[in-house]
Amino acid sequence: MKKNYDIVVIGAGLASLMFLSRYVLKNKSQSILLIEKNNNKNINQTFCIWQGPGLINIQKTYNLKPRHVWNKIEIAYGNENICKDITPYSYECFDGPETLKNLLKQCKNKIDFKQGLDVKKIKNHKDLIEINTSKSVIHTKYLIDSRNMITNKQYESPPSLKQVFIGNEILSKTEKFNPEVIKLMEFNKNKKAVEFVYTLPFSKNQGLVETTLFSKNPSFIKIKKLQNESLFKYKKFKSMKQEKGVIPMILSRQYASNNNLPIGLSAGMARPSTGYSMMRVAQWVNSIEKKQIKKNNLKQFQFEPNRLLNWFDSIFLTVCYFWPNKVPMLFMKLFGNVDVRSIIRFMSDNPSLKDIFFIILGMPKKLMIHGLFKKYVK
Ligand SMILES: Cc1cc2nc3c(=O)[nH]c(=O)nc-3n(C[C@H](O)[C@H](O)[C@H](O)COP(=O)(O)OP(=O)(O)OC[C@H]3O[C@@H](n4cnc5c(N)ncnc54)[C@H](O)[C@@H]3O)c2cc1C
Repeated sequence: MKKNYDIVVIGAGLASLMFLSRYVLKNKSQSILLIEKNNNKNINQTFCIWQGPGLINIQKTYNLKPRHVWNKIEIAYGNENICKDITPYSYECFDGPETLKNLLKQCKNKIDFKQGLDVKKIKNHKDLIEINTSKSVIHTKYLIDSRNMITNKQYESPPSLKQVFIGNEILSKTEKFNPEVIKLMEFNKNKKAVEFVYTLPFSKNQGLVETTLFSKNPSFIKIKKLQNESLFKYKKFKSMKQEKGVIPMILSRQYASNNNLPIGLSAGMARPSTGYSMMRVAQWVNSIEKKQIKKNNLKQFQFEPNRLLNWFDSIFLTVCYFWPNKVPMLFMKLFGNVDVRSIIRFMSDNPSLKDIFFIILGMPKKLMIHGLFKKYVK
């Protein structure tokens, strides 16, 4: 006889595994199946996150060990460069495959895990969901779906953008990196997209150099060319691994029904202005931690972003969409004028009203008012 599950979770990615690793601790009686389409999920990813007072401690909460921790950040544009000590905050980076492996290990013996099952179709029956995969049909009472279901249509209207990047972890023959300072954004002039290089220095010789675009129509061919230009200054180096990705920078999202809960990117768990999702996922998991999934309560598990932050992000994205060439100046002003701790709390979805007030004061007002105007007057 086929087994019916209480809960099926689609996708063994960051959102599902952060959720499950906590959920299974308190809900031992429910039968849970996790399905993943890839047989070997060893995709290069580096998850970075701000840590410090008031922010969820990822190391402690999820038993994860960071690969590197920085207390100084730098941003630069043209000849100008701003370097800040961010103590008591830090910027921490976790190796992607190791993080996912570790989170999955924490769910061991508490859930069933099947790899190589590609979900093709989902049918809703009365009180039961039928999941058709490439290999079998599975039935469940409740479905948690982390597939990225964002459609091209959702990207069509402004201010929706995509964050696209290619990064190479390189080993340089000479000492080219300062492992004390993470280079958050080194902007390049670009009229059509926001373009910057993000550098995570792991040692004097080793670092991840990543070219990033916030763009309406990104092309990997173009970004590969830009990445080669970024790597040119390292002259003699060996590329150890490459990571690339496309992350949505959009405000629209999917909603839960009585028995189907979207999570992850399509549920709005990536912050529209940054594309970062690890902190949002952690905050969401914290907010639902005491609840158990049962009949007719799945909507209570819906991720709800902070409305005020979404509104700020929509203005920021409007500026990026219409005036990408002005965005480097916006960041230089912001980091030059505002206490970096306020910016970190703001970027981590955890600002105080005082932080928001200082951020408004520190932004280039004319540009933001143009953004505001353009957002409402189409
Ligand atoms: C290279 C890279 C670096 C990033 N760096 C950061 C960072 O530093 N900090 C940060 O906060 N965020 C970062 N992000 C953004 C975000 O945190 C990640 O995209 C994160 O993986 C999103 O988690 P998720 O669970 O929503 O999606 P995913 O991790 O993509 O998980 C979805 C899973 O569903 C599976 N799946 C899809 N379709 C099917 C199907 N039909 N059947 C079965 N399974 C299916 C996929 O194989 C995948 O495993 C990064 C993203 C990328 C791509």
